[in-house]
Amino acid sequence: MRKQIWAAAFCLAFSALACKGVRDAGSGDGTEAKGARRSEYRLLEGTALELTAVRIQGEEPDSPGEGGTLYIVGGIHGDEKAGWMAGELLKYMEISAGTLYIVSPANRYGAGKDQRNTKEDRDLNRNFPGDPDGCDAERIAWAIYSDIRDKKPDLALDLHEARPGGENRDALGNSVICQSPGGIGDLVLEILTKSAEGDMCSGAFTLYGSPPPGSINRIVTDELGIPVMTVETFREDDLEIRVKNHLEIARLAMRYCGLLGD
Ligand SMILES: [Zn+2]
Repeated sequence: MRKQIWAAAFCLAFSALACKGVRDAGSGDGTEAKGARRSEYRLLEGTALELTAVRIQGEEPDSPGEGGTLYIVGGIHGDEKAGWMAGELLKYMEISAGTLYIVSPANRYGAGKDQRNTKEDRDLNRNFPGDPDGCDAERIAWAIYSDIRDKKPDLALDLHEARPGGENRDALGNSVICQSPGGIGDLVLEILTKSAEGDMCSGAFTLYGSPPPGSINRIVTDELGIPVMTVETFREDDLEIRVKNHLEIARLAMRYCGLLGD
């Protein structure tokens, strides 16, 4: 509940950018807007690791050929605030077609403690595909991996933050990471081109490959054949800018998957 209240406050604070990239499905009194088609379901239900997944459907979810499916995971690293804050905001998105799934923050304990790892001090992004009987990171990873396998999205987005150089291997700056850009090459090219030309985001994004073993990106791409794009925003930018960058890329991905009109 605390997170929901916080997310609502965040929606208001960022209304200027939100009205461009995100429209709040609520009417201000907590009721859902007509046609919002927003629902929730649980992963790891009834356990201490329970996660709430949000499903948002377009106006015509049952029409053949109308929109695809996009699955967004925010906050696999709990201290990477912009990733899971963008995820929280995207839960209030309205789409015109297709289906949008959001799990954020995936590392709920880490987000609450502002720490990268899980309660058992494991890096969730090195534990995919996970294990339903394993440590906390393996159980969370398995739940998310299984849900992505079941939902069969056209694309999965994985929202992170990159620290300034020298602290760890995440010193990537504003970047997108793909194990294989096959199938989403047009989307990657559009992000690189538009960000370089100043038409989106706060600066130029760079493309990297080879996500680490055990990461959601590598495992979902290799084992499920579903393209995954990891988005890293740069910690030296203000939080508002980092969140806005995530939202702009998520919006482009939604258009790419047919969830939004032009
Ligand atoms: Zn990360």
